[in-house]
Amino acid sequence: ISILAIESSCDETAAAVVRNGREVLSNVIDSQIALHTEYGGVVPEIASRKHIEKINQVIEKALADADRTLSQMDAIAVTYGPGLVGALLVGVSAAKAISFASNIPLVGVHHIEGHISANYIENKELKPPFLCLVVSGGHSHLVVVKDYGEYEIIGRTRDDAAGEAFDKVARAIGLGYPGGPKIDKVSREGNPDAIHFPRAKVGDAAYDFSFSGLKSAVLNYLNSCQMKGEEAVVADVAASFQKAVIDVLVEHSMDAIAKYGYKKFAIAGGVASNSGLRKAFEETCAREGIDFYHPSPLYCTDNAAMIGVAAYYEYRNGVRHGFDLNAVPNLKLGERIV
Ligand code: ATP
Ligand code: MG
Ligand code: FE
Repeated sequence: ISILAIESSCDETAAAVVRNGREVLSNVIDSQIALHTEYGGVVPEIASRKHIEKINQVIEKALADADRTLSQMDAIAVTYGPGLVGALLVGVSAAKAISFASNIPLVGVHHIEGHISANYIENKELKPPFLCLVVSGGHSHLVVVKDYGEYEIIGRTRDDAAGEAFDKVARAIGLGYPGGPKIDKVSREGNPDAIHFPRAKVGDAAYDFSFSGLKSAVLNYLNSCQMKGEEAVVADVAASFQKAVIDVLVEHSMDAIAKYGYKKFAIAGGVASNSGLRKAFEETCAREGIDFYHPSPLYCTDNAAMIGVAAYYEYRNGVRHGFDLNAVPNLKLGERIV
């Protein structure tokens, strides 16, 4: 089974060819990061326009890199939510047009299901059930992956997503956009115990997260430095912030692993490429006898290969979409709008 997959939910225009669910034949990503940097974040209107400019050439390159023609594809897969509506519509429209013109079945995919499925690419033996921590630009979820395409969210953020917190704190300490990779890098030169930032507990829900208080604590710290006429040490602030995020993610995940009794644990989404987070989970899981899985950084942030992987299992489950497939900006994980 060969699948041409398309992803355009945010600021990456991406296409990939995936064979039999786990073999990536090509993975083309046109990132708009440079375009949005001067605004300090993704500007939806600019993202949509750029997707329109790039989508056809990205798709053509994905087929060429895979040394395949469109007629050799068994399905056209596309992210239809969640994400920016204008950005999603570009991919959805392209996928529908290709599917209609070539008479190849259309399969709509949930973006976060794609992030989770990225783990299958390099871990050929990984199969559900397992527990997965999804930490991306817009989501922080603890998810029970019961089966392919079957999910139960047992914890979620009450406010900011983990990636969002990284991006906002990076802006405040002058590192710029996108913040995650920059904080990751400067943290290696800082002392994670230099400043004690709060580890938020969400009273009634054991596995829920909250990151906006932590972000405020960092801003307050920067303000107080300024009022005292002291210069904040950027590397120490970054390292201490990152440590606070990691501590909460590890603690909640390990609690859930113990409570639910899973022996397999995976992480997914852009923040899953954070070197400190990976190290913390590697150590903790090794100590607890848990098998720990994570995608390579390239498959953590947005890409179409992960969409092709998720689409394969949907396709095998008989999921097909009609030409009335629409972008669903707030699509829920595990929800299928067919
Ligand atoms: P979503 O998937 O929730 O719709 P998104 O697609 O914008 O959101 P991703 O592409 O999964 O998000 O991830 C981007 C996020 O990951 C950004 O917030 C970015 O700062 C963060 N990120 C990327 N690399 C790192 C890193 N090394 N450390 C921490 N955060 C990182
Ligand atoms: Mg992005
Ligand atoms: Fe994403």
